[in-house]
Amino acid sequence: MESEIRVRFAPSPTGKPHLGNLRTALFNWLFARRYGGEFILRVEDTDRDRYVEGAIEAILDSLRWLGLDWDEGPEVGGQFGPYLQSQRLEIYQGVAQDLIDGGYAYRCYCSRERLDEVRKEQQRAKSSHPGYDRHCRNLSAEESKKYEDQGVIPVVRFKMPPEGSTTVDDLIRGKVTWENELIDDFIILKSDGFPTYHMANVVDDHCMKISHVLRAEEWLPSTPRHLELYRALGYQPPLFAHLPMILGPDRAKLSKRHGASFILDYRDDGFLPEVMVNFMALLGWSLDDKTDIVSRDMLMENFSLDRIGHSGAIFDKEKLLWMNGAYIRQLSQDDLAERMMPFLKRDLPAETGGIDMDYLRRIVPLAQERLKTLGDSAGLTSYFFEEDVDHDSGQLVQKGMDVAATLVSLKRACEVLGVLEPFDLHSIEEALRSTCAELELSGRQFFGVLRVAATGRTAAPPLFETLEVLGKERCLKRIKLAIRRLESGASTAGSTSPVS
Ligand code: GLU
Repeated sequence: MESEIRVRFAPSPTGKPHLGNLRTALFNWLFARRYGGEFILRVEDTDRDRYVEGAIEAILDSLRWLGLDWDEGPEVGGQFGPYLQSQRLEIYQGVAQDLIDGGYAYRCYCSRERLDEVRKEQQRAKSSHPGYDRHCRNLSAEESKKYEDQGVIPVVRFKMPPEGSTTVDDLIRGKVTWENELIDDFIILKSDGFPTYHMANVVDDHCMKISHVLRAEEWLPSTPRHLELYRALGYQPPLFAHLPMILGPDRAKLSKRHGASFILDYRDDGFLPEVMVNFMALLGWSLDDKTDIVSRDMLMENFSLDRIGHSGAIFDKEKLLWMNGAYIRQLSQDDLAERMMPFLKRDLPAETGGIDMDYLRRIVPLAQERLKTLGDSAGLTSYFFEEDVDHDSGQLVQKGMDVAATLVSLKRACEVLGVLEPFDLHSIEEALRSTCAELELSGRQFFGVLRVAATGRTAAPPLFETLEVLGKERCLKRIKLAIRRLESGASTAGSTSPVS
């Protein structure tokens, strides 16, 4: 059966794609890759009212970013194209006509006003079968002609069987049955000549020889309509697998307030694409109920429908952050430097100027442990790139020290570091440790002063490494700046002499 697997991702370009959309794409892609099948991308752009400019590009960008390549679809083509539904209108119109001719569908001339009236009346009467009242289902040829002569442009509705039931044997959820009488005669072709989702979806899944439909659970209620369409058209339906809902930790439908975003926002926030793939794969599927880090290769080797659960999958932003940090720590330093570069360019102040890749590579080991997202890059490392740093005198002066003692320690550090040759980790550490002893300060005090002086921060990576990477010139410049700042603050209090 392996070569027969053909699955599709069928997004509607109605806005920016979000995590849930791409989870569906990923599961389809993994299923295809696991079994040597084909992954087809089809754009369901038949709802012109909800069409959003730029949405198709955003979908393609998201797939590309995640590395979910498609075997057929926009840009790559394929033998069952076109893959944009708006370019297939004649096919749907032909099928609609066939359904009318076969007695499975009919033209409906009801006005919006009439339909509104019917709906209101059903609401008033608390109808147990709300929906279209089948007014046009049995129009005579004369009645239809009357409407046509008046220039009313009809829609085409599908004749749902008024009784019986429809059952889908879902690969994940098992058998689910609906009473047909609860489903109204839904529209398959709109008055603008565009098909509805139900119609276009069924026709294309058939024409494109789709073997399995893996889609979000929200589409489950559409499935009886689809199955009735397949039956009327004499098509063999594909197999269905409805993926579990994605929920927030409070088990409510996932939303922004749970920290969920549009997929490209994760990219811009500095999540790694391989992390998103790993994280999304676990939203409904699991390797063994306990393994969190599952590489793309492992996913491709192990993905299967029988490990997809049917209860909701919980989205946990903390876990995503943790996972991103864990992947970042596994990257080679060169790779991480490459990935940080665009974020630094984006986020560092413009006056920072160009960033030297070799310099960045030396900074990477100092940031790697602490980065949760690439978006933290500038925040964590800006002091390596900025010309000057800010000094808060309150932070410079350590516990148990005063301004005068702080100035003494800074001046002494300046002298010691100024003559240090070579300016490397070993000599910096040796020189500063003995200066610390000579000044009779604790390490926390002396190194605390120097940390704030060199970086402008109280929390930074290990001090000696940081000083080494900053280089002698920058270190001295900053320490002198700290001295001047302290003195100008202190001079108002009338204490020490200026530094040379
Ligand atoms: N166009 C639908 C969507 O936006 C596709 C649903 C399906 O896969 O059948 O998700």
